[in-house]
Amino acid sequence: MTVIHATIVESIDSEAGKQPGAIELRELDGEVKGIAFRCPCGCGYQSWLPVQREERGWAWDGNRDAPTLTPSILQSGLPCKWHGYLTAGEFRSC
Ligand SMILES: [Zn+2]
Repeated sequence: MTVIHATIVESIDSEAGKQPGAIELRELDGEVKGIAFRCPCGCGYQSWLPVQREERGWAWDGNRDAPTLTPSILQSGLPCKWHGYLTAGEFRSC
């Protein structure tokens, strides 16, 4: 198991957002609608996880500094197929 710290960044497209495990909380009308993140495996791809939308998407615990999402994240659309969890601000691979 590999643990990568999830670094909260202003924008996933910024320089800071290029590091593996970077996270951007995207808001609309003051409400977090989803989380963009840079794959923690180091492959460089970014992904988008919708949060709590009409029972689709991931459940987020509301913590902006050390977020937890459930259930697990599977990068099925990426070559790396990274699979793991975001828990208390840390990505943990399965
Ligand atoms: Zn990856």
